[in-house]
Amino acid sequence: MVSFDLDDTFWDCAPAIANAEHALFEWHRVHTPRIASDHTPETLLEFRVAIRRQYPELAGCVTATRLNSLRNLLVKHGYAAELAEEAFEVFYHERSRVVLYPGVIELLESLRGRFGLAAITNGNADLEQIGIAGFFDKIYAADLELLAKPHPDMFHRCLQHFDVEGHEMLHVGDNKVTDVQGAIDAGVRALWFNQHGALWESADTAPHFQVESIEQIHQLLS
Ligand SMILES: [Mg+2]
Repeated sequence: MVSFDLDDTFWDCAPAIANAEHALFEWHRVHTPRIASDHTPETLLEFRVAIRRQYPELAGCVTATRLNSLRNLLVKHGYAAELAEEAFEVFYHERSRVVLYPGVIELLESLRGRFGLAAITNGNADLEQIGIAGFFDKIYAADLELLAKPHPDMFHRCLQHFDVEGHEMLHVGDNKVTDVQGAIDAGVRALWFNQHGALWESADTAPHFQVESIEQIHQLLS
């Protein structure tokens, strides 16, 4: 079976997050003007970082962290904490408006039916909105119960669900630590999606496979 990381493996994450932050700030301008006038996007980021430090127990779940930060921000400026859900939806819709790398749909179409397919992500992108949820037999997204990569939790749950051994599972991802080292430590084979030509520094371990493009993943698994 094959598992895939999502952010920066199937799409560039940074532009979607930037658009989402922008949309959220515009929402604040309209619905919570005291927040918009007291803050810039930069000071909102500082506020989020400070809140995140206060609640380390939420750190593994980006959704819970974001909602908690919004609630704290709203209450601090005299608005109802319940508005956090509405604000989050604005952010979340834009965060999930990603541009798939060329060849992703073709790759998933070619793998469907030949391999069990899973997504294993530390993020919270909405695969239904993106339109690729239907390709996956199982989607694991780190939250308050599922521990974030590189912890082996989601890899091991995946092995159990598909009833396979570690050498029968290939995890594909861009991140050297969370994807490659995480998979290796979980006893799973790792394919490093290294599209920017980074160097592998560790002398102790190495990814089982390394590719620079979606097309090369396609070729490797065909
Ligand atoms: Mg990634």
